[in-house]
Amino acid sequence: MEGDASDPIERSMNKLCPMPGCRVKQITRDDPDLLSITAQGTRPGGRCPDCGCASRAVHSCYRRRPADLPSLGRAVRVDLRLRRFYCRNAACTRHTFAERLPELIRPHARRTSRLAEAQARVGAALGGEGSARLLQHLAMPASADTVLRLIRSLPLPEPEPPRVVGVDDWALRKGRIYGTIVVDLDRRRVLDLLPDRTAETLADWLRGQPQIAVVARDRSTEYARGIGLGASGATQVADRWHVLVNLRQVVERWLAGAQARLRRLPLGPGTSADVQTGRRTKAFARTRAERAARVGRRERWVALYEEVRRRHAAGEALQAISRAMNLAVGTVRKYAAAESFPVPEGRPLRSSILDPYLVHLQTRLAEGCENALALWREVRAAGFPGTAKQVQRWVAEHRTTPAPSTPHQWRTRSPVPSPTPAALGCPPALPSPTQLAWLLVQPSAALSVSDAALVARVEQDCEAARVAGLARRFSALVRGNGISQNADPNAALRELNTWLADARRSGVRAVETFAAGLEQDGAAIQAALTTPWSSGQAEGQITRLKLIKRQMYGRASFDLLRRRVLLAA
Ligand SMILES: [Zn+2]
Repeated sequence: MEGDASDPIERSMNKLCPMPGCRVKQITRDDPDLLSITAQGTRPGGRCPDCGCASRAVHSCYRRRPADLPSLGRAVRVDLRLRRFYCRNAACTRHTFAERLPELIRPHARRTSRLAEAQARVGAALGGEGSARLLQHLAMPASADTVLRLIRSLPLPEPEPPRVVGVDDWALRKGRIYGTIVVDLDRRRVLDLLPDRTAETLADWLRGQPQIAVVARDRSTEYARGIGLGASGATQVADRWHVLVNLRQVVERWLAGAQARLRRLPLGPGTSADVQTGRRTKAFARTRAERAARVGRRERWVALYEEVRRRHAAGEALQAISRAMNLAVGTVRKYAAAESFPVPEGRPLRSSILDPYLVHLQTRLAEGCENALALWREVRAAGFPGTAKQVQRWVAEHRTTPAPSTPHQWRTRSPVPSPTPAALGCPPALPSPTQLAWLLVQPSAALSVSDAALVARVEQDCEAARVAGLARRFSALVRGNGISQNADPNAALRELNTWLADARRSGVRAVETFAAGLEQDGAAIQAALTTPWSSGQAEGQITRLKLIKRQMYGRASFDLLRRRVLLAA
């Protein structure tokens, strides 16, 4: 063994620099940044790799110079002196064979196995290019291509056989190529990535794991079929998160159809106009240039809108207009149907410290006060903590005449304020169907005052009230299971059946279709309400997967991406 050196210096060197299968003879610093460790093999003989016969007959000596793990910031190279043995088996075609050190290095490798593993681990975390840059600093340089090759040769972890898994799809190329992620819901780790989302691929994977008892999935029929094929004994659970997304989509589709009718609804009973006119539809502009750009953008869109209306009135087909004007068909359809230029609905806005004072500012502006400093003093007295600049910006966007201090170049391009809906005598605009659908499926207690007023306004329409009521009941039913695990499962099922019956009789087609779909997926939906499993955590894993995918500059091959995700699991 390597410990039999008699020299105490050699003994301590061997303790400090363990080289399995070798004895360290010398450590030198050839270069300011390079340590050389001279070592030689210690086994008395070896076995022929072809015939397996043992031999101690030395044929010759040879040297290998593999790189090893760095030491104290310096790269390390091992000067390995190894022997070659004769194969004495007359029946064997091989005459000689080299001494092997399986614990230290693979045949023909240019780095020790432990260095290769360290470089591959860095590669799995950072990708080829990133790790090539970092490894240079860590005194174990390797090219990006080498790192990728090392990642490919790293053994994948072998997780314990899962009992409860969740499956979900993820985009390798958005809109074109989708894969499947399989997650162990008990241990919260990724088990595998599959290259597509077909039933057959999933079934094949599941057949290799016969112990699986529960599979949580989205509402896709393809996964349902795959689980039926590959794990027919397992309980299928419709994922609660996906069921709620489906519900919201149904409400959204219904709202899109009813939008024109709902928009004409007056403000809700008991709502002062202030609650809704105080809502902003866009963020505050920060600079004059931003305001001017906004006006310019709006003018361009209004011109496009008018062109669409003109072509549509002349009898051109929507598709043809879309092609000729290079506009999305959805936009063309919206413009063709709108009597006036539809105000675009932006993203939900972050609240501003100025928001509570907008009603006051609007009132004062309507009275004719356009002096921003005076207005700032008024709202400051009422408790506004911000600066005069913020009030100035707001006034700049809403004033009717340019301020005396406005430089000449900006006067001509000063935005003309669009009349507020209230000034035109029509009720304020509604948020988009997507935003409104969010509000309608929330529990009433979770809504802010202005959102509750909006919901109350929409629910004056009796069909809207019916849809929203059913949506809220269903989402409470699904969420209820997520929150309290000890709820009586039979009560939940009874409630589900009542809900389904009400939905089937609701007279709203979108809701009836949704209920029919739930009934068709009956067992999985019931399991969603009575078992704790949900593949919600797969969403979190998909977020991590996307992060790794982006690090690969969107050029990830499926195989490499899969390895990196599984090595990080
Ligand atoms: Zn042999």
